[in-house]
Amino acid sequence: MGGDSSNSLPRESPCLSYWQRTTRAFPHLFANQNNPVPARIKSVVLGSGLSGSLTTFELLEAGVKGEDVIILEAREAASGASSRNAGHVRPDAFRGYSAYAKVHGPEQALKIIANERLVLEKVDEFVKKHDVQCDFNLTSTFDVCMTEEFAKYEAESLKAYELAGGDISHIKFYEGEEAKEKTGIPDAVAAYEWPAGSSHPAKLTQFLLQSVMERGVQLFTFCPATAITTNQSSLHLWDVHTPRGIMTAEKIIHCTNAQAALLLPQLESCVTPNRAQAHSLVPSPAFAATNALQSTYSLRYSLYHFYSLIQRQGDGTIILGVSRSNPTLSSETLEGRFSTDDSHYNQEIADDALRSFHQIFPTFSSSDAHGEGLDHSWTGIIAMTPDWVPLVGGIETLPGQYICAGFNGHGMARIFTCAPGVAKLVMGHDWSTTGLPECFQFTPMRISQLSEGNLPFIW
Ligand SMILES: Cc1cc2nc3c(=O)[nH]c(=O)nc-3n(C[C@H](O)[C@H](O)[C@H](O)COP(=O)(O)OP(=O)(O)OC[C@H]3O[C@@H](n4cnc5c(N)ncnc54)[C@H](O)[C@@H]3O)c2cc1C
Repeated sequence: MGGDSSNSLPRESPCLSYWQRTTRAFPHLFANQNNPVPARIKSVVLGSGLSGSLTTFELLEAGVKGEDVIILEAREAASGASSRNAGHVRPDAFRGYSAYAKVHGPEQALKIIANERLVLEKVDEFVKKHDVQCDFNLTSTFDVCMTEEFAKYEAESLKAYELAGGDISHIKFYEGEEAKEKTGIPDAVAAYEWPAGSSHPAKLTQFLLQSVMERGVQLFTFCPATAITTNQSSLHLWDVHTPRGIMTAEKIIHCTNAQAALLLPQLESCVTPNRAQAHSLVPSPAFAATNALQSTYSLRYSLYHFYSLIQRQGDGTIILGVSRSNPTLSSETLEGRFSTDDSHYNQEIADDALRSFHQIFPTFSSSDAHGEGLDHSWTGIIAMTPDWVPLVGGIETLPGQYICAGFNGHGMARIFTCAPGVAKLVMGHDWSTTGLPECFQFTPMRISQLSEGNLPFIW
């Protein structure tokens, strides 16, 4: 099992993230790991990440019976990007507008940004309504410009977004001394602040899995779907092949993230796996107790060189993420990101992240106590699409099959509208009921455009 492209299965021996290391007692981690799959089921959800678990949850909310749904997961429960990310639930407030507008036009670009803002509200609402113990922290985030050039780029992006009619009423701007003081970063040139959150993403996904399993859904872990073929007796049924048997199903929902093309080969050049890395740090006294950071951060030197930062309430752990295309890294490390190998981390990336973090926050300086500082490093695989937006919807050429994947490293800021959207489509509703930007829709024309690869390079 496990290759190095979008048409391979996830690797067999992934490393564990901070999030996984702190949830090893989740009782369904190895659910049904030795049991054969049933011969017949109505619906199969492929993948137990946030996309698969929330889609299943929404199907049940819409009246589907739990006994009629099976989730297949290639490894342990929720072992993909949803349990390996940097913990941010952080909408893009304006920065991506111009880039999205180049590919999708101004109207769609505004909708893409508005959709991320809506997701933050939906996550907040959901966590409160269901009392989800996932350490969700609704706060504000800083986009910190660490260079004059990037401050200029952000100012132009904000202007373009505002001119197009984008809402900026929730965005605050600081420059010079005020930016330094607000962010606590001596080298900050400018900063923008808007509402955002952080969560323990594994706990959120596990809550969803637990909830659907309590209502009759069966999760089969270590049970990848290896092929899907047309059933011999009916063109309206699909045979899902697994190492533990073949299951005949009416509906299949692909929530397989960067590995979607194994079962949907037409996506080979539309979904590209990219390896990303994050780190957990135990705070020094300068970041502990009442000194803990109250907001989250994106620390930006350029479009390709940035770091993300959240500090968790409770245990105070700092989670530090790194941009995948950081030009200060060696060409070998940069090449290595085109991989599905999440079994280990890259030392050069960890060293760069730590060095930069200390430069950006000189006050972090450790008290040298054993146990402080870098705690753990891990990797995970994100799914990039050439037009930077997810693939959501019914697959016309394969009636009864649907997809909800390709979140371009923004799943936490997108899945809470995309998964409910795909669930509506599965229930027979029109695309218009999803409320999603039209450019997210999986259409034959979009797939052929993406496959031709002639989209403008946007950032
Ligand atoms: C290091 C890192 C940092 C990130 N930081 C952030 C962040 O701060 N904020 C943010 O919004 N996003 C972030 N992301 C991206 C975010 O984690 C993803 O967009 C999101 O988790 C995708 O969810 P998913 O359910 O689509 O995929 P996954 O969680 O990967 O779930 C897909 C599942 O499908 C399974 N699978 C694949 N193929 C098969 C098959 N054939 N049969 C059965 N099962 C299969 C996989 O094993 C996996 O469990 C980050 C990602 C990484 C790796």
